[in-house]
Amino acid sequence: MSPDILVAGAGIIGTSIAWRLAQAGLRVCLLDAGKAGGEASWAGAGMLAPGGEVEDRSDWAEFALESRRLYPAFVAELAAESGCPIDFKELGAVEVAFAEAEWRALAERARKQAVLGVSSRCLSPVELRERVPLLGRETAGALWFPDDALVDPRQVMRALTACCRGRGVEIREGVRVTYFTLSPREALLETSAGPLTAGAAVLAAGAWSGEIPVRVNGAERPIPESFPVRGHLLGYLLDPGSLGPILRHGQTYLLQRANGLTIAGTSSEQVGFDRRLDRGIVRDIARRACELLPRLRAAGEPQPWLGFRPATAGLHPEIRRIEGAPLWLAYGHYRNGILLAPATAQRVSRQIIASSETDSQATAGTV
Ligand SMILES: Cc1cc2nc3c(=O)[nH]c(=O)nc-3n(C[C@H](O)[C@H](O)[C@H](O)COP(=O)(O)OP(=O)(O)OC[C@H]3O[C@@H](n4cnc5c(N)ncnc54)[C@H](O)[C@@H]3O)c2cc1C
Repeated sequence: MSPDILVAGAGIIGTSIAWRLAQAGLRVCLLDAGKAGGEASWAGAGMLAPGGEVEDRSDWAEFALESRRLYPAFVAELAAESGCPIDFKELGAVEVAFAEAEWRALAERARKQAVLGVSSRCLSPVELRERVPLLGRETAGALWFPDDALVDPRQVMRALTACCRGRGVEIREGVRVTYFTLSPREALLETSAGPLTAGAAVLAAGAWSGEIPVRVNGAERPIPESFPVRGHLLGYLLDPGSLGPILRHGQTYLLQRANGLTIAGTSSEQVGFDRRLDRGIVRDIARRACELLPRLRAAGEPQPWLGFRPATAGLHPEIRRIEGAPLWLAYGHYRNGILLAPATAQRVSRQIIASSETDSQATAGTV
């Protein structure tokens, strides 16, 4: 029997949408060209940090704040339904400035953020020491962002796939979607495992989404392009609980998982899907991280990894239905897909459920 919905891409976005749809009683099939949760959603650091990311008023900014508000309930529900533990901590973030000009820019950003509802306050030198005793340098100033949080994206993915399986979602790994052919009431997906049909489909293939051609009622329909922005991260082992809040300075950040894994980031390169670690970039992140937290120098060689942030031209996600066709776009979450997963899943699943209810009423002749 055909599923109601086919979801292309089993990263955090596709999988959380599939979970919400399955909770509503729809039959869902989740397809992934590789391994579920094997790409950006495996690589991500897991900061849920409007304080570091949201600066100007936009739909995207509102959406990020909404998703942050949804997170505690999202994680609690996932953990309860899957039985999988999820390392989620609402520890806040400290952002430091070392030069006066940096401090002025940071204070100005905080003023703009306050208007949007992102709260922060200045920390005195004593408060800074209390919150980050391991900080390595004198600062020109520091801000405290109480609402920033962090989560382990790999644990979220494990819980999401368990919840999906538990609700009967068929997860097909190693199946690449190569074409969407859409008519008003049907989605036909050409895939490496042959053609598949459903009443509707979701395109959530991260940085690869824009590569997949879409045809609507016999005519090619361009969709927004997507491209990868590669990022490196380094993992160190420190004593659990030794870092406290997220620590940020410019493009450098540090955060710690419950088990002591301390993650240092990051970099940003547009080099296509090149999976080779760049040793120069790894050294640069290590240098910046050790300057912030000298204790890392004694933590041994860090473990580096990289991933591909899914970007679009505007650097904002594409979350909407394709006009006149049963296809929803859910890609381009760039640096914030872990943060944006709950709100994306809520928005897309509600739209799909509402449209399938309208379709079934129309079939029954009540609309
Ligand atoms: C270094 C780094 C640090 C990050 N840090 C953070 C952070 O701190 N906080 C935060 O919120 N976000 C962070 N992000 C961003 C976040 O990881 C991404 O935005 C998010 O994981 C995107 O999820 P996704 O499901 O859209 O994409 P992905 O996780 O990439 O999933 C897409 C899936 O689609 C599959 N696929 C591809 N092509 C096809 C096809 N043709 N057919 C079927 N399947 C296909 C892939 O195999 C993949 O599994 C970071 C990213 C990186 C790289």
